[in-house]
Formats: sequence, C-alpha cells, structure tokens
Amino acid sequence: MSTRALSKPVDPHVLVAEVVTTKRLSPHLQRVTLGIEDIDRLTLVGDDQWFRLFLPRPGQDALKLPTRTSNLGWYAQYLATPRARRPLVRNYTIRAARPELREIDVDFVLHGHDGPAAADEPLGPGAGFALAAQAGDRVGILDQGTYHRRQAACEWRLLVADESGLPAVAGICESLPDDARGVAVVEVPTADDRQDFRVPDGVDLRWVERDRAAADDPVLGEVPGRAALAFVRDSVREAELPAGAGYALVAGEQALAAGVRRHLVNDRQWPKASVDFVGYWRHGKASPS
Ligand SMILES: Cc1cc2nc3c(=O)[nH]c(=O)nc-3n(C[C@H](O)[C@H](O)[C@H](O)COP(=O)(O)OP(=O)(O)OC[C@H]3O[C@@H](n4cnc5c(N)ncnc54)[C@H](O)[C@@H]3O)c2cc1C
Repeated sequence: MSTRALSKPVDPHVLVAEVVTTKRLSPHLQRVTLGIEDIDRLTLVGDDQWFRLFLPRPGQDALKLPTRTSNLGWYAQYLATPRARRPLVRNYTIRAARPELREIDVDFVLHGHDGPAAADEPLGPGAGFALAAQAGDRVGILDQGTYHRRQAACEWRLLVADESGLPAVAGICESLPDDARGVAVVEVPTADDRQDFRVPDGVDLRWVERDRAAADDPVLGEVPGRAALAFVRDSVREAELPAGAGYALVAGEQALAAGVRRHLVNDRQWPKASVDFVGYWRHGKASPS
C-alpha cells in the first residue's frame, strides 16, 4: 500500500555499494555505512529518500543486478529472471549521506532477533544482512525518490512513524527549514532506541516507547505501530496542534499508516490530499522477493 504522492527519483541508476562499516546504534537499530564509488550518479535530495536494496540470495556468490532503472522496467526484468538467479530486494531509506566520502548511512531495524516475539518471527533478509554485514560485502541500490512533499501547501506538518520510519522522520526533520512548525510522533521499542537528531525549534518531537505503552495495555505491545496510532488518536489533542492547514506523512507498519490516515480524514476532517501514508511493511508478511 502506498500513497500517490511519490516524488520520482532524479536520473536513477543501479549502483554497486560496498559495506564500509557497521554500528549498533541501539538495541533494535543497526547502522550500515555503504561506500558507493559512483555516488556522483546518485542525486541526493534529503528528506525520506529511499531506495531498492538488492542483496545476494543465500548460495549466490555473484550479485546479479537489474540493468533497467525505470519503475516498471527493473521490476519486469526482475520477474523475468528465474527466482534462483534473482537478487533479494528490500526497501530502505538513506539516513545520511557524505558525498565527499562517497558514503551513505542506512539504519536497519533488527526486528525478530530478540524480544518475546522473536521465536515466532523470522529475521528477514534485510535485518539479517544488517546484523551480519562485513566490510567489503557488496549490494546493489536503486534510487526511488521521496514520499515527503517538502513543497506541500501547509502551515505545519505532522510526521508519524514506527522505528522503520525513524530514518525517514529524522531525514525529513534535518531537511526542514529552521522556521518549520509541526509535530513528529515516533514509536520505538524501548527508550534506548530513541535518537538525537536536528529538529527545528518549532517541531515538537514526541517519542512513544512501546515497552512502556505495553505495560499499561499489552495489546499495544503486540505489533509495532499500535502504540503510535493510539497516541495520535487519544493523546495528540487538537488544542496542542499548531494552527492553520496541516500536511501529514505517516510511515511504518501498514495498520499504523492506514489507521492514522483514517483517523485524520474521518475523525478530524483533514482533506485526503493533505495526508500521505506509506505502509512500509506488513505484520506477519515478508516483503515479496
Ligand atoms: C519507502 C520505504 C523505506 C523504508 N525504510 C526503512 C529503513 O530505513 N529502515 C528499516 O529498518 N526499514 C525500512 N523500511 C521497511 C523495510 O523495507 C521492511 O521492514 C522490510 O520488510 C524489512 O525486510 P526484512 O527482510 O528484514 O523482513 P521481511 O523478510 O520483509 O519480513 C520477515 C518478517 O519480519 C516482519 N517484519 C518486517 N519488518 C519489520 C519491522 N520493521 N518490525 C517488525 N517486524 C518486521 C514481517 O512482518 C515478516 O513477518 C522501509 C520500507 C519502505 C517501503
């Protein structure tokens, strides 16, 4: 599920990237720094710029990358390749970029590797790659543009995410002008998963800690995103929100994205066109590959 307001990538190319280093940022987030020799061919735009990550399939020694770059083109080529020879593909956000060093940082949620649900939840190739990545490992990337509409006609913004959307919210906050106003709500598994990043003074960043929410209501701890949805519904009062026309971007588990949008449109009478929502992943369902 996604929104129609996708800002397309500028001149996309399939690029080879190599792991430079990894760093555990917090209990559930791992940063992988990727070196991209051809970084000049990647138009870096900030915000929530995201990309397709191509990973070798288990047992594949060479990375087989698509050569077509249009949205339909690469996917048609991918589907036409026998499954055993296709790479695995997942979606991630460019958390930070240092073009002068030819590097980007990507923050991966390590879902399924600990916690009570871990035994039932497979790690997934994306999280597994981040956990095991070694310097020199090669992957492919293909720029996909942004969802956040920087130019939206609004007086303030509402950003809502679970931990998979934390890199997007951080990237957007760091791209906003100093006088931007808004509210950002980010759900993280624990207080230790909170991060420091530059937030304009007029943007109120509210952290929702899932383990604390679950201590009050266990249902809120069962699926990432539930606690943030409940927080937006019940705790973010109209009176606390900035005046004037708002624009919202919601990114995270599908029920969070759909639920916040439904709440804003049905309960708070926001125009549909003012709400972009992106289901980043679906509870209990692996990304197709
Ligand atoms: C535009 C976009 C940008 C994204 N940016 C990021 C990013 O920067 N960092 C990031 O970590 N993710 C990001 N995601 C989400 C990421 O693509 C998915 O979480 C993806 O499913 C991870 O792949 P996987 O191989 O680890 O798990 P999969 O093989 O897809 O899934 C395996 C199992 O894990 C569960 N699962 C998947 N993701 C999560 C999760 N986050 N928490 C709990 N359970 C999960 C699934 O429901 C399934 O049961 C983004 C998604 C989109 C669409």
